[in-house]
Amino acid sequence: MSIAPPLYARPVREAASAAALTDDERSRILAKSAQFAPPSAVLPDGRRDLVGLSRAELTEILTEIGEKPFRTKQLWHWIYHQGATDFSRMSSIARPLQEKLAERFVVGRPQAATVQTSRDETRKFLFRFRDGQEAETVYIPDRREDRGAVCISSQVGCTLSCTFCHTGTQGLVRNLGAAEIVGQFMAARDSYGEWPSPKGETPRLLSTIVLMGMGEPLYNYENIAKAMKIIMDGEGIGLSRRRITLSTSGVIPMMDQCGEELGINLAISLHAVRDDLRDELVPLNRKYPIAELIAACRRYPAASNARRITFEYIMLRGVNDSEADARELVRLISGIPAKVNLIPFNPWPGSRFQPSTREQLDRFAAIVMDAGFASPIRMPRGRDILAACGQLRTESQRARRSSGAPDVQKT
Ligand code: SF4
Repeated sequence: MSIAPPLYARPVREAASAAALTDDERSRILAKSAQFAPPSAVLPDGRRDLVGLSRAELTEILTEIGEKPFRTKQLWHWIYHQGATDFSRMSSIARPLQEKLAERFVVGRPQAATVQTSRDETRKFLFRFRDGQEAETVYIPDRREDRGAVCISSQVGCTLSCTFCHTGTQGLVRNLGAAEIVGQFMAARDSYGEWPSPKGETPRLLSTIVLMGMGEPLYNYENIAKAMKIIMDGEGIGLSRRRITLSTSGVIPMMDQCGEELGINLAISLHAVRDDLRDELVPLNRKYPIAELIAACRRYPAASNARRITFEYIMLRGVNDSEADARELVRLISGIPAKVNLIPFNPWPGSRFQPSTREQLDRFAAIVMDAGFASPIRMPRGRDILAACGQLRTESQRARRSSGAPDVQKT
């Protein structure tokens, strides 16, 4: 099928200079991210949370209290394979050492402030962290196959203000720490009693992770990378990199690093095929426009026909859902191992968009599919509990305002 570019479409802007992709740019992003660092992992009583430490860090603090490095392996097994939170349950560790550990450390979990289960069995957790900040995590079961995806948040709020997204109205409060990111998965697992971690190909109820909750994960890359390395570790939770998908609005310099260092699957919040429209829907596009984003996808190291890049496309009635848009989308992603997730817009209080009609969704999907790309229409899940895509939001920012704390700044 030959695809002509739509007549009305402005060409996407030329890719900016390669300077935008240099190490300097990466350093700038990481330095900015550090300004929104999570609070210390030490409790007011002086005990330290062991969750979220790398193996090397765990060895280091065990050495500091006079323990041998082999204890790291033991503790790792109990924390991440068995899911133990109580040292007295760690039966391969002698009682005196259990007591010594309990005096100095904890194995923490975020507190579930609320847990709501939808009619369709989607479960939304509002997790509260030690400093009182909150973020949402959603478990989306696939009951036909006894498996499901855990949608994890990377930040409290979000800096990016995508205009169709409820989280974006909240502003960024702070980044989540590695412990808080891993902790969301572990606490969701507690809720389903899925410990010890299933080994190898044994079916898992919580079988995939999508980093698609609140926040832009690549603006919190270091904590995300540390958390994902813990989750992928084969002696603990052991979730394969093939079962983890990071969704980004297109923080291009960090996409490169993510592909090289973590090799996890990539999803792109595309949502528009013209720069003028994407500038409005996903304001980050003004910094990293479509041409650069697509070029970064073409070189993403972990993409292959077996592990396609997902392009997320929220369908907004009369805004981005025309047949010309569909044809331009096909032209843009041509040659990339890709699939397109079409997401019916889930209205939230105060939103100014309307969902596309079913007919328009089907027409759009057919054009993309005829061009050889899978284009499932993602059925909204958990709509009755505001757990669907783009609906997550917490009261964290509002609480800061009423407490008189200064507003945070956007990156
Ligand atoms: S869509 Fe994602 S990146 Fe955009 S405002 Fe919402 S949470 Fe942030």
